[in-house]
Amino acid sequence: MSEVIPAFAAGSVNRNATLRRGFVAQERLAAGARILALWNDHVPVREGQGLYLTASLGPAGAADGGLIYLGQADGIGDVLAQDLGSQDPAPPLPEGCTWTDLRQSMLQMSPTEAELAATAKALQSWHKTHRFCSACGAPSDMAEAGWQRLCPVCHTAHFPRTDPVVIMLVTKGDRLLLGRSPGWPDGMYSTLAGFMEPGETVEAAVRREVAEESGIVVGQVRYISSQPWPFPASLMIGCHGLAETEEITIDPEELEDALWVTRAEMVSVLAGLHPKIKPMRRGAIAHALVVNWLADRKN
Ligand SMILES: [Zn+2]
Repeated sequence: MSEVIPAFAAGSVNRNATLRRGFVAQERLAAGARILALWNDHVPVREGQGLYLTASLGPAGAADGGLIYLGQADGIGDVLAQDLGSQDPAPPLPEGCTWTDLRQSMLQMSPTEAELAATAKALQSWHKTHRFCSACGAPSDMAEAGWQRLCPVCHTAHFPRTDPVVIMLVTKGDRLLLGRSPGWPDGMYSTLAGFMEPGETVEAAVRREVAEESGIVVGQVRYISSQPWPFPASLMIGCHGLAETEEITIDPEELEDALWVTRAEMVSVLAGLHPKIKPMRRGAIAHALVVNWLADRKN
């Protein structure tokens, strides 16, 4: 069984950073760049054919006006993102295409298309919520093909945010720790996760989050893989932590329940046969971490 790679984690787009300087959108369009439109945090998908990219710009008066250069993808070429705002009704799409929430459509597109869509959504959200200079408060301008904002008053350059989150497979022998947060849908459990704090290493964040949420002490921590998660700006850092204790004491503010699940039980969870726990969402890193752990008897 081959390794499961989560959605958005292809790492196959050539971001072509040198092209961002002196970027002229019209030149890229004249050279055949494709456009990925965004509307109300949704992306267009053509049923059965993945992400819908077009050669023509959307309606005039698109939000912020600025086009973002996403990069170059094999078989697609240059791709620009255009934010069409969030007005109602939605901008029209060709027959067979619909505006979709990326979490729902992430598996309907190729890994490269999902990476383009995630990058576009992360940058678009950042521009939407960072319109003013955080140093002096003046309105800032999009620069570097969408990869910076510049303040025309105090000349501070601002860069897109990525907020690191640790998400960890915590195991003890052949058992895995799962938890659920208050308010999650019935039967939904996942690996524990939490935002990193300033001044903290990845390993320390894993140990702190697990201790805070479940009372479990984690010893050795190993990095496994990561996943951009643009809702709105997270980077999920997938790790494997070896538990040194077993007794669970949950923090009810953070978790509603936590439990140890054996490999055999986990197989039935993923098959949708477990009486209490539903399978994790395919495409999410928690699913990949668990499936790859089950497939790798060395862990
Ligand atoms: Zn400023």
